[in-house]
Amino acid sequence: MTQKKAKLTLSPLGKTWLLDLDGTVVKHNGYKIDGHDTFLEGAREFLLGIPESDSIVFLTSRQDWCIPQTEEFLRAAGIRYDRIINNLPYGERIVVNDRKPSGLEVSVAVNLDRDQPFDLEYEIDGSLRSHSLPSSFFSSSSSLGWVTSHSWRSLRTSSLSFRNSMP
Ligand SMILES: [Mg+2]
Repeated sequence: MTQKKAKLTLSPLGKTWLLDLDGTVVKHNGYKIDGHDTFLEGAREFLLGIPESDSIVFLTSRQDWCIPQTEEFLRAAGIRYDRIINNLPYGERIVVNDRKPSGLEVSVAVNLDRDQPFDLEYEIDGSLRSHSLPSSFFSSSSSLGWVTSHSWRSLRTSSLSFRNSMP
């Protein structure tokens, strides 16, 4: 099974990554089946590439008893995160947020196929702004409308591509 690569265009603002664990980041129920977790291809590399200015929150239906071993697995893998929210229902996870006055959409959702490589790619488009922040918030280079691409494949080869997004 080959899933379609998810590609996002995001602003330079600090972001919150809400990530499911089982079947998305790690093998689905691997902690039960194998007795330990295993990263899906590209997931660890993607997580390591998330900027320090972003928050990482794991959302999971896992029960309390397996959270200490989950935390130890993530710690041993060098994964930074802000919190794990567990005991969640099995159904949809819905993010609701208010659109910026600039028109910037601030709710984003991605569906990845279970237990497939973490094929999510995103680019930072410096031209996507929020009117609610002073221009000094942005670096001078962002005024040129730069685009930076991120994916676990590009991070693996340390080759971030840049291009001018201005017409
Ligand atoms: Mg899942």
